[in-house]
Amino acid sequence: MRFKNAAVLVTGGTRGIGAACVRAFLNEGARVAVNGRTDTSVAVALAEYNGNENAVAAPGDVSTVEGCQAAVAAALAAFGRLDVLVNNAGVFFRGTIGETDEVAWDAVMNANVKSVQFCTQAALPALRATKGNIVNIASESGINGYPETTAYCASKGAVISLTRAMAMELAPDIRVNALCPGVVETDMARAGFAVDGDEEQGLAYQRSTYPLQRIGTVEETAACVLFLASEDAGFVNGAALPMEGGATV
Ligand code: NAD
Repeated sequence: MRFKNAAVLVTGGTRGIGAACVRAFLNEGARVAVNGRTDTSVAVALAEYNGNENAVAAPGDVSTVEGCQAAVAAALAAFGRLDVLVNNAGVFFRGTIGETDEVAWDAVMNANVKSVQFCTQAALPALRATKGNIVNIASESGINGYPETTAYCASKGAVISLTRAMAMELAPDIRVNALCPGVVETDMARAGFAVDGDEEQGLAYQRSTYPLQRIGTVEETAACVLFLASEDAGFVNGAALPMEGGATV
């Protein structure tokens, strides 16, 4: 129960890694504001928690400044404080440099990078008041580069840079760290790595590329997020923690 009564906001908490983080924080006693793009997607996600009053809705499209402000405002309205911000929301785009048009580039950058800047900005006064902390979900793709994913790799490299810059600006009040997962089995990975529409083939190929011969689980990812957000990581600041079964070694 490392987070008893802590107030947490998880962006993109309606499925995948974000939803696993919501479950893990609830299991350790936190109150959690669940963000997703729309009221409906958040309501559907909250149904999983069977009326648990520690899970509340914080809808808002965090690829926009207004959406970031709305999500943070909903969390503060519910809890009156904020101890942890998990900037998890993100999108993937697969395409060659030639196929990555301005619309795709902006969509990836806004969802993956702008969201981190402006959710953090909106949450700062509340996080300063609690001496809270921020965990940004970057990616191993932000350390290594891969073909046909320039926008995604660049966006995650930017999240790592943002993490380091924010950590330096916000110390000593607020710790800021990034997690850099390799492939984790979620809707994003299934769709993003499908080979000619075959998701299983895509996942099998991904598994074969890892030293551990498997990909990550959402539970393993959430466990790393909670570690970074906890006092166990009290002297970890500005880090970009790889969680990728040895892929960057
Ligand atoms: P997912 O597609 O399963 O879930 C993403 C979540 O973010 C969804 O709830 C979605 O609705 C939400 N979201 C997206 N854009 C949003 C917006 N503008 N406003 C509000 N919510 C928004 O993906 P996932 O695999 O769970 O990914 C979560 C994070 O982890 C992302 O930042 C992703 O880039 C990162 N990541 C994923 C993997 C992987 O292999 N799955 C690996 C490394 C990093």
